[in-house]
Amino acid sequence: MPINSGLPARFNPASYDAIVIGAGLAGSTCARRLAEGCGWRVCVLERRPSVAGNAYDFVNEDGILVHKYGPHIYHTENDRVHQFLSRFTEWTDYQHKVLANVHGTLMPVPFNHASLRLAFGPEKGERLYAKLVDVFGKDKKVPIMDLRAQGDPDLVEVADYVYENIFLHYTMKQWGKTPDQIDPSVTGRVPVFVGDDDRYFPKVAHQGMPKDGYTKLVERMLDHDLIDVFCDVDALDLLDLSKDRVSMCERVYGGEVIYTGAIDELFGSDMGDLPYRTLDMRFETLPQDQFQPVATVNYTTSEDFTRITEFKLMTGQVVPGKTTIMREYSKAYEPRSGQTPYYAIIEDENLKLYRAYRGRADDILNLHPVGRLAEYRYYDMDGVVASSLELSDELVAQH
Ligand code: FAD
Ligand code: UDP
Repeated sequence: MPINSGLPARFNPASYDAIVIGAGLAGSTCARRLAEGCGWRVCVLERRPSVAGNAYDFVNEDGILVHKYGPHIYHTENDRVHQFLSRFTEWTDYQHKVLANVHGTLMPVPFNHASLRLAFGPEKGERLYAKLVDVFGKDKKVPIMDLRAQGDPDLVEVADYVYENIFLHYTMKQWGKTPDQIDPSVTGRVPVFVGDDDRYFPKVAHQGMPKDGYTKLVERMLDHDLIDVFCDVDALDLLDLSKDRVSMCERVYGGEVIYTGAIDELFGSDMGDLPYRTLDMRFETLPQDQFQPVATVNYTTSEDFTRITEFKLMTGQVVPGKTTIMREYSKAYEPRSGQTPYYAIIEDENLKLYRAYRGRADDILNLHPVGRLAEYRYYDMDGVVASSLELSDELVAQH
């Protein structure tokens, strides 16, 4: 069935075996698996006018394919996720590379062998590199917070340089805190790489971009006889939760409900708001073929924005004479302001509040939170798809 806007006059939730809230990667993965695995009729409700959630891409008024909610680069080590997604797209062989602008010098991030030579000069850079290889081994990923914990004076020098010039200011801009003040798993996403692989995701087996974009990928995933998609519908307007049951359109709903929105919002934030970071994304089309040498340049020692993305360099689209770039400005998310909650903030207190909401959701046996917002996790796309496949497996096994 095509993707609809709004609900039909005679919308009847009881005619569906499952209701999926949100048409991002989490919701779409569950919808497809439940339709195929159980032969269920599935209804997908999406509050935005578009599917694909934050991975949504579209051709802008200048004819350039852009990512509305931030640059998305596909990468995974998970073969099952890769096989599943590959049913709905071919991939380009784009290999994401990022340069950090360090006081005007561009050097690879993750910080690697080449970055060491640029930062310390070829001679000293080689000596420090040899030391890193000695201590950690070649082609190893070393989180900055682990590197900082080393006692050796050479390693302290490297760690201090990387901390100060790659992580400190960028992290302050992104999180409003220093790297020491945030969960180490966050900076651990971009470890120092003791080697020559200069890709943003070194050694990762599957990486690339969906050949026709993410929106097309998700549209194909949702294109199934048993799946109906209704955009421009806020499911929370239809949904009522009591202690142990879900009602839809004022009737108790007995099918399965998959929820992929923010978990605090599901309960009216009645135990308090979960904190998030949001982004202002400022797009600009310039009258030139190319703006920067690689798709993403991180501004790690200057500027108010964190990074500039140039979409054509990522998607491989050829459009002579113009190019669209986007700057990201991070700030605290204000609940009920219409902003998008992009990043969960991984801190003990927030995780405690998340678990309290999650406990309530788990008391309702046919309600299943899954995805980046519903699980309050710093998931990449592959993590969301993996979690959604797992949940779907459980539901398929039960029915
Ligand atoms: P979402 O994409 O947020 O989808 C949830 C959907 O539910 C939304 O469409 C929302 O409108 C809808 N919804 C919520 N509440 C309701 C409601 N009440 N009624 C109806 N609909 C509702 N991952 C990567 O792998 N590589 C990257 O390069 C990458 N870059 C990123 C860059 C940025 C700036 C951000 C923010 C994320 C990035 N990610 C990246 C992560 C990726 O976006 C997520 O992992 C993934 O898209 C999350 O999918 P989801 O379905 O869980 O959530
Ligand atoms: N980071 C940094 N400098 C960089 C790249 C990353 O300080 O040049 C830190 C920063 O705290 C960031 C985190 O590492 O939030 C994770 O970076 P990643 O690129 O994975 O963030 P995302 O793409 O999810 O915004």
